[in-house]
Amino acid sequence: MKTRSEFIQNLNETPLWDIAIIGGGASGLGIAVDAASRGFKTVLFEKYDFAKGTSSKSTKLVHGGVRYLAQGNVKLVSEALEERGLLARNAQHLFKKQEFIIPNYKWWGGPFYTFGLKFYDVLAKRLSLGSSKWLKRETVIEALPTLMTENLSSGVSYFDGQFDDARLALNLAQTAVEHGATVLNYFPVSALNSTENATVDSIVVTDSETQEGYNIKAKVVINATGIFTDKILKMKDPTHKKTVIPSQGIHLMLERSFLDSDAALMIPKTSDGRVLFIIPWHDKVIAGTTDTLIKKPKIEPVPLQEEVDFILETINTFLTKKASRSDVLSVFSGLRPLAKPKKEETNTKEVSRGHKIIVDDNLVSIVGGKWTTYRKMAEDAIDTAIEHFDLPEVACLTKTIPIHGNTSDMIHAEHLKPYGSDLEAYTSLESSDPLYQQPLHPRYPYTNGQVIWAVRHEMARTIEDFLSRRIRLLLLDARAAVTIAPKVAELMARELNQTPAWQEEQVSQFSALAEKYILN
Ligand SMILES: Cc1cc2nc3c(=O)[nH]c(=O)nc-3n(C[C@H](O)[C@H](O)[C@H](O)COP(=O)(O)OP(=O)(O)OC[C@H]3O[C@@H](n4cnc5c(N)ncnc54)[C@H](O)[C@@H]3O)c2cc1C
Repeated sequence: MKTRSEFIQNLNETPLWDIAIIGGGASGLGIAVDAASRGFKTVLFEKYDFAKGTSSKSTKLVHGGVRYLAQGNVKLVSEALEERGLLARNAQHLFKKQEFIIPNYKWWGGPFYTFGLKFYDVLAKRLSLGSSKWLKRETVIEALPTLMTENLSSGVSYFDGQFDDARLALNLAQTAVEHGATVLNYFPVSALNSTENATVDSIVVTDSETQEGYNIKAKVVINATGIFTDKILKMKDPTHKKTVIPSQGIHLMLERSFLDSDAALMIPKTSDGRVLFIIPWHDKVIAGTTDTLIKKPKIEPVPLQEEVDFILETINTFLTKKASRSDVLSVFSGLRPLAKPKKEETNTKEVSRGHKIIVDDNLVSIVGGKWTTYRKMAEDAIDTAIEHFDLPEVACLTKTIPIHGNTSDMIHAEHLKPYGSDLEAYTSLESSDPLYQQPLHPRYPYTNGQVIWAVRHEMARTIEDFLSRRIRLLLLDARAAVTIAPKVAELMARELNQTPAWQEEQVSQFSALAEKYILN
């Protein structure tokens, strides 16, 4: 991997980029891979760390969306199912086939959901992950030992994909770099300079670490800032009207024993008509999510008390092992960048999860969509750029491009799986120094070597980058993450040539952030 200073040197040496992307979440990074692999001179700027926004706070499903099928959105579902199949092939190290069980407490639930999920299988065509099937009561109880059994009549099993969102974002950044892109985290865009005829002439970026500013010229500027899309559009036109509505979703992380199963539980209709999942992830379970309209976009949204209560009440209705606030290992919250429909909706679960591309001179904004469809969104964004601007017509290649780390090798240790094809290089680094082999926390398998690797090869700049997104400990167990923060700061400081004052500041910033993930 190139160093940060080498990427910065590229900024100084490139007078005109073909594509400059603002935002390093699923959308922006997918676009960087697409553009760079078509041979375009591509640069991407992320204000914080890659996937610091919504893209590290998802439910971690690569799915067509059974719920959207129930809403009759067949096109969205079949497009997402195709993308699910492509990711299963191109990022095998991060993709997991996951069984879901829908329990039926009404006699008609069995035939109703079996029929619906058979249609889901049909839409997935050759990329199906396995057939859905009706399950008798005893089979459901055996598969989900902590499920409430009173009035349970049967169940339906189906398959979907699961992944590690922040790791996929990182691997997309690495893939883009391998195809020639320059990608920089901690590089906010603060202004757009326009010519007299309103074309964006250059964008103003700043290196957050040195405060050095740069003026970047590009033929096309892509705004992939998710819930912050309107802020960028306002930099160009202060009278710009809102295009994105943020909708908050939270998740609770619990010990695996609450579900005690390899299968996930899907509750198709909660008391307020939503879907709720309880899904094994790493060695824990994730329960979520909610759908709450929020007025102002925030990079670190805070879970509402009623959202936490709603999830706890719902899981306690369906599970025999009861969860309370003190059982929650971590609570994380994200904002969906939903494309605003023509008529303002108050109920965001009805707002389409499809994506929209807005062309405003040479500023192309992409809004909405989901993680699952990031590749198709990127293809559409670059096709649009080619159609409207002075760029050669080159076909999209990403359907068959392997994502960094892709391997069919089976990796058994859960905490090493995300390294994929980098595993050999990682283990060789770890074995080069006894310090690197030492565990970071007595209850978790992570080692000091992973910190070093993250700095040298994964563009980690802060302890939050490491603890939240290179390994996922902040989301898995926020208190454990706080405990090891000083050790991580010390190891990073050595690699980054940082001072004791930097370490102290890092630990205090991280502890303040982690407080938001802990329920007191
Ligand atoms: C609760 C929840 C659950 C979800 N579950 C799923 C799921 O299971 N499966 C699925 O497919 N999808 C899911 N999604 C949807 C998916 O997570 C999002 O669609 C996707 O992550 C959006 O990515 P993005 O790149 O558009 O936005 P973001 O990830 O928010 O990225 C935008 C980036 O732009 C950066 N930025 C902003 N301003 C600037 C600036 N001035 N300069 C530089 N950078 C800037 C931000 O820092 C941010 O990193 C879920 C979403 C939520 C909220």
